[in-house]
Amino acid sequence: MLSLPANMIRGQTGNMKYPFFAHNSIRNREVITTNHHCELCGREPVETTVHHLTPKELGGSFMPTANLCIPCHKQIHSLYTNRDLVTLGLTDLQSLRADERIIPYLRWIRKQPASSIPRVRKSHQVRKS
Ligand SMILES: [Zn+2]
Ligand SMILES: [Zn+2]
Repeated sequence: MLSLPANMIRGQTGNMKYPFFAHNSIRNREVITTNHHCELCGREPVETTVHHLTPKELGGSFMPTANLCIPCHKQIHSLYTNRDLVTLGLTDLQSLRADERIIPYLRWIRKQPASSIPRVRKSHQVRKS
């Protein structure tokens, strides 16, 4: 299954400062897609979440996104601030994979079976990007 509907909805509303009525439906669609492969670590099948390679608040609303497994997505946002992602040029997957701060993590996560990762759902936290 592709997650095209979420992308289309985001495209339609991305320049509207997130009207509240639309926000919940967008989040529900973008939060979890099962049986995907993670575009960062390459494991599959995993649940993926949509990561904006250029953070939305820094102009990335219409820029490319990546489907990342939950540990990869968390790792990125714990290693880098949104501004870091832009100033360090980590706004594409190749650059992210090559960054020295994430390489040790990637070495580790690639050895973890997809099924061993706990299924964590952030139900009430606001997702940053
Ligand atoms: Zn991953
Ligand atoms: Zn993200």
